[in-house]
Amino acid sequence: MTSTSITSGLEALYLAAIDSNVEFVTAVAGYPITDVMERFLESWENTGIIAKWMTNEKAALETALGASVSGRRALVLTKHVGMNVLADPLITSATHTIGSGLLIFAGDDPNVVASQNEQDSRWYGSLAEIAVFDPATPDDAYRAVLRGFEVSEIIKAPVIVRITSRLETVEGRVERIECGRNEKKQRVIFNRSIWELTMLGKHQRYHLNSYPLLVEESENTPLNKLKVLCNDVGIISSGFPSKLVDNVLKTDERWFDISHMALNMVYPLPFNKLREFVKRYKHVLVVEETETFIESHLCVLDNVLGKKTGHMPYGQVDAKHIEYALEHIHEDSVVKYTGIQTIKSRGPRPLCDDCPYLPLYHILSDLDVLVAGDIGCSVRSGPEPLNAIDTAFALGSAITVACGFDRKGIAVIGDFGLAHSGILGLVNAIHCGFDVLVIVLQNKVAAMTGGQDAPDLKDIVRVLVRDVSVFDIDRLPAVDLKCLIKDKLDGHGVSVIYVDAKCRKY
Ligand code: SF4
Repeated sequence: MTSTSITSGLEALYLAAIDSNVEFVTAVAGYPITDVMERFLESWENTGIIAKWMTNEKAALETALGASVSGRRALVLTKHVGMNVLADPLITSATHTIGSGLLIFAGDDPNVVASQNEQDSRWYGSLAEIAVFDPATPDDAYRAVLRGFEVSEIIKAPVIVRITSRLETVEGRVERIECGRNEKKQRVIFNRSIWELTMLGKHQRYHLNSYPLLVEESENTPLNKLKVLCNDVGIISSGFPSKLVDNVLKTDERWFDISHMALNMVYPLPFNKLREFVKRYKHVLVVEETETFIESHLCVLDNVLGKKTGHMPYGQVDAKHIEYALEHIHEDSVVKYTGIQTIKSRGPRPLCDDCPYLPLYHILSDLDVLVAGDIGCSVRSGPEPLNAIDTAFALGSAITVACGFDRKGIAVIGDFGLAHSGILGLVNAIHCGFDVLVIVLQNKVAAMTGGQDAPDLKDIVRVLVRDVSVFDIDRLPAVDLKCLIKDKLDGHGVSVIYVDAKCRKY
């Protein structure tokens, strides 16, 4: 049975998961996937889907792998930086093999709206040699998820669906295939025959048996769409920018007859199709975000233009960028996108005016000591006027970074960052005998990602570390905290100060 409705990309992703009989969802909160997870959480009583916020992306994928081998279709939701954290089990899982289908929604953040960097999750397809879908519209997203689960079961490996916030919010017509949860799909149980192979044999099996199926899929899938017209210009695009390209070509008569190849499946790339397309036109523009994933595979050809030739910007793509590139399509290279955003030009993103941790940040700013920050609200204490933390490399990184300082320094980490992966840094600091003062901002929420619960690891930390203090910054004077910090910096070994407070926002 099919039904058609106008819906958002987010809803289309959710409905596709329902219609694919997903039974198990894990997620780590973060822009732009938090809203998708909340859709599963608000409906779990009706759907019966088990949906869990996890503290770490590697744990999220590993738990989903467990669900898959026991026969449950599973879904992992993570923002792009979380792909780095789950990369280890992801890459091995392709050759290890799985059971029922497993999809990863990788939420990319073009233009770094709410993230610590800008990266392109499509590259994880190349690294793990697994399928990547990059849908443009709600209907494409719906179809990519449905087909993604089937592909995952055929090649016995996870499949990535790259999403962005604009895909989530855009509305479009979706034709839904409601086989639904009443018609249970056959569960695929993990096949133990993989243990007959050596580790090398597992890779050989993957390259001989599974990977060619992906190539065939990419060359033949109706999700990769081709419109051939008579102009000497062609455009290759993927993801949400494909929708922008369609709009630009439709609304400006100068470009009515430009050909367009819109890829919804981007790994493996359909090289036979691409070769034919690129040969056919005098100029070929690649429109994609965030990085040059497609363009990098084609840029040895002189007629291919894109970010590397200056025609398109890195990061988020808008209609005006496509129009500019088409107006300059006969130039080999252009110089336009040269700006570098500063905090001054963008405007600061300050901490809440009444944040209880402001006195701590002032103390850190006054001390002559290196401070390793973490990802979370404290990252906003780095720029002027606070200048409180010196570094913020990754979620959970503060303790290990501070262990490398040339004298006893400070690690400032949130309670969620500690549970995510910072606790491993603490174990390492004790094991290696480093000198470090760890300040845990304990407000019991992941404030940057919407106020999800953060676990309280105080009792575990007390087992690991002898020198643990607790300071209630809502009740005690800041001057006492300054004395405590100075005192701990004077001593050797690992010291932990828990700074308890109530987040004013959550
Ligand atoms: S959200 Fe909470 S922890 Fe973050 S700056 Fe605001 S008050 Fe402070």
